[in-house]
Amino acid sequence: MKKIAILTSGGDAPGMNCAIRAVTRVAMKSGLDVYGVYEGFKGLVSGDIIKLENNDVSEILNKGGTILKTSRLPQFKKRSIVQEGIKQLQKKRIDGLVVIGGDGSYRGAMALQQMGMPCVAIPGTIDNDINGTDKTIGFHTALYNIVDAVNKLRDTSSSHHRCFVIEVMGRKSGQLALHAGIACGSEIVITKDFPYNERELIDQLLYEEKVKRKKHAIIIVSENLMCVHNLANIIDQNTSFSGRALVLGHIQRGGTPVPEDRILASKMGKKAVELLIAGIAGQCVCIKKDGIINMDIEIALNEKNEKDILLYKLFEELV
Ligand code: ADP
Repeated sequence: MKKIAILTSGGDAPGMNCAIRAVTRVAMKSGLDVYGVYEGFKGLVSGDIIKLENNDVSEILNKGGTILKTSRLPQFKKRSIVQEGIKQLQKKRIDGLVVIGGDGSYRGAMALQQMGMPCVAIPGTIDNDINGTDKTIGFHTALYNIVDAVNKLRDTSSSHHRCFVIEVMGRKSGQLALHAGIACGSEIVITKDFPYNERELIDQLLYEEKVKRKKHAIIIVSENLMCVHNLANIIDQNTSFSGRALVLGHIQRGGTPVPEDRILASKMGKKAVELLIAGIAGQCVCIKKDGIINMDIEIALNEKNEKDILLYKLFEELV
């Protein structure tokens, strides 16, 4: 292996830059040339591939987003388009690729691998929804952003006897909502796997108000489940809390990565290069019980995820 490339794909996540830096620096120290592919699979197919120098990855550790930019390219599911991407790498004699992204990007990496391009994937997504790894890069920063926002909302909701219904990201995963529920001490958490029943929810809020004498309530809801504004209206009409809703949105993804994401990304970037050099591809980098390991991409995507059940049990014990 003499030349490798890196790309970031799908939703951006704070800490992706730390992974780009680690891959570049570790690979260069091992004598490899490193190329950056701009805008994910889109830039791969169009040949937007530029050699990176040491300085290109200076002063990026603290930056959110991705210096390589990212994109979504649905056509990458077609074999002919994947083949185009491989041709562009071959033109530059690049013999290995690191893909940083979420589960969609992992499938793109798998397609490249199956068609002959050695690939290693690194989990870069705020959703923490890749089963093979305990944590993904960006998750800690997004969680920090949510906790920071909820702390502020709690102050104002206490003063006004409000119940805030807050929608957080996570796509189909309840990880951000559940962790935020525990970290913020929310009264209720609603995720795909732990849905709500309107009557029970109102009864619980009445109990919080009348028996526990709570001055405020916070409900954290995973995205794509409901209209949080409707739920706030129902609360407004059926309890003495004033119901308010907020969709936190993309603010969750921004900002400087927290140290946990920086360190995780640095460890994973190093591991990805080691795997490519050792000729071990078709793999993704994972963290399991604090150890950095690698796993077949397909197995990592399919492994059963039990993380949410344990978290929800903890949440229930703390309310
Ligand atoms: P994320 O990587 O954050 O999960 P997406 O699900 O949007 O984001 O996937 C990012 C990109 O990965 C897609 O736009 C597409 O180019 C590629 N991709 C997704 N699924 C597949 C697939 N089954 N085969 C090949 N490429 C895929």
